[in-house]
Amino acid sequence: MFLKRLEIIGFKSFAEKVSIEFVPGVTAVVGPNGSGKSNVIDAIRWVLGEQSAKSLRGAKMQDVIFAGSDSRKPLNFAEVTLILDNTMGLFPLDYTEISVSRRVFRSGESSFQLNGQTCRLKDINDVFVDSGLGKEAFSIISQGRVDEILNSRPEDRRSIFDEAAGVLKYRMRKKKAEFK
Ligand code: ATP
Ligand code: MG
Repeated sequence: MFLKRLEIIGFKSFAEKVSIEFVPGVTAVVGPNGSGKSNVIDAIRWVLGEQSAKSLRGAKMQDVIFAGSDSRKPLNFAEVTLILDNTMGLFPLDYTEISVSRRVFRSGESSFQLNGQTCRLKDINDVFVDSGLGKEAFSIISQGRVDEILNSRPEDRRSIFDEAAGVLKYRMRKKKAEFK
């Protein structure tokens, strides 16, 4: 599994549509301070279902929408699409390529799509749990998270190992079964 492409329209500093191709060999994003490097990572976490505006460095979810600049008017919606390779079948879907999209409007209206079909956040979570790529997963470690991991309570730290070991999925299913 690997990231193939990230398409961004109106998300944070990306007013115009940009398409970032993660061709083999791409290992880093570099640029001056404030040029949007962290916004690229925020876009990936957002499309994978991040629900905390604070962890996306905003106050409310609509803060991810391009807010305007000296030369451009603010936009009314933000949309991010992430295209992933699934030739190894890591994700439980019968497609060799998976695309996940998320869109939010200033009115607050928002939606998710999986391979072009409107779906719920839960469907996105179900696809990514255990893949190492979910919004809580170990493949995205933000600034500050390293300290958090080292200083967290053993039980909280354990969930990171559970996810990495593939146990989290079963723990979640057990919890759901017990709740019913
Ligand atoms: P650093 O090297 O300092 O970490 P960076 O490349 O990671 O910088 P980002 O944090 O990704 O930079 O980008 C910050 C920029 O994004 C700021 O200029 C900020 O004004 C802009 N920005 C954030 N949210 C929005 C928004 N909703 N609309 C327009 N611009 C935004
Ligand atoms: Mg940054």
